[in-house]
Amino acid sequence: MLLLRAHLLDAPSFGSLRSIPDGGLLLDGVSIVDAGRFEELAPRHAGIEVRDLRPHWILPGLIDLHVHLPQYESVAMDGLELLPWLETHIFPGEARFADTAVARAAAERFFGDALAWGTTTAVVYSTIHAEATDAAFQVAEARGLRCVMGKMMMDRHAPAALQEDTETSLRQSEALIQRWHGAAEGRLHYALAPRFAPMCSPALMRGAGALSEKHGAFIQTHLSENREELAWVASLFPEASSYTDVYARHGMLNGRTLLGHGIHLDAPERAAIRAAGAALVHCPTSNAFLASGIMPLRRWLEEGLPVGLGTDVGAGTTLSMWHEMAMACTVSKLRWADTRGAADRPLKPAEALHLATAGGAKALGFKDHSGTLDPGRLADFLVVDARQPDPGQRAEDEPERILSRLLYRAQPAMVKAVFVDGRLCHGTLP
Ligand SMILES: [Zn+2]
Repeated sequence: MLLLRAHLLDAPSFGSLRSIPDGGLLLDGVSIVDAGRFEELAPRHAGIEVRDLRPHWILPGLIDLHVHLPQYESVAMDGLELLPWLETHIFPGEARFADTAVARAAAERFFGDALAWGTTTAVVYSTIHAEATDAAFQVAEARGLRCVMGKMMMDRHAPAALQEDTETSLRQSEALIQRWHGAAEGRLHYALAPRFAPMCSPALMRGAGALSEKHGAFIQTHLSENREELAWVASLFPEASSYTDVYARHGMLNGRTLLGHGIHLDAPERAAIRAAGAALVHCPTSNAFLASGIMPLRRWLEEGLPVGLGTDVGAGTTLSMWHEMAMACTVSKLRWADTRGAADRPLKPAEALHLATAGGAKALGFKDHSGTLDPGRLADFLVVDARQPDPGQRAEDEPERILSRLLYRAQPAMVKAVFVDGRLCHGTLP
């Protein structure tokens, strides 16, 4: 058992910020067993080792709900929209993962950098290559973070080097599920990953949905990101009433489905997503980078759609969820500047923190065991030096202001230590 003393900050519900300036967090093995004001905890747990981390802060670990491991190597290639960007910059990079040594080295860089930014849970797309995906799972296991991952599935309209056979794609995915879903004391999970409707045959989508149901695995894909993509989907699936309906009619919408983007959705699509219990992943940096659009985030949230945040590297430009939270606030302000409607009120930093922690946990069905600093949650948390991003070095300030600086002026040095399941995965305790 270990009692940490620090400023505790989390966002257990949307819009709330819980700040305990002189807080205590009691750890026992993988879990948080007590949390609150230090002066109340100390007498309850007399004799337990105390580490005084003041003036540092403790926040819940950050949850990146949508990111492409192989695209980290091809990040920040400006100038194109989604479909030509995939052809020009992304597919050649993904093809290199046929060499498992390339894939393993890339996975080391990717998971190392994600952890250094404070990501404790990452939901990841690998490439189509089963061996590369297996190597990425091995690296994730060794690094100790929580990871939901799956090999990319694409059996039509793909470049020759990345075109799969339907049966092979499904068979390899099931073998990876059997090896990794629930592995590493439950830190690793499998997500079937049909890339997006235009590159998946009906048989592949149906097979992926069936494997998700059979094994209780997650399923992740892209939805309604770019206008040219929407037109392509409509031409390929004339019988479907919408893009979302393509996934619904092929059995891909369930309570473990994560849908990246969801910018241009009509009311029946939103109703279908809600009814299925699926979640949307807002990736504002990527949506700006590829000129895809601005998700009406607050409208979707107020309708009751579960939404988390994702970096979507490589169209996202960094693995930092701090930057993603700031970008979610920024693009919401640009949208509001145009509409000035109450339904488009700008996102606040506290709301963004909720989406990147408890909101992401809820989208994954992990809400009872991660995303906040409550007793009973798994000990996934960060030790942060909140003075780092502040040029004024104000020791006393409102938590909302300090959080705002952490988001908008994030830098790697402010993340001092990263814990997953109570185990130090990055940095050192200050
Ligand atoms: Zn993506």
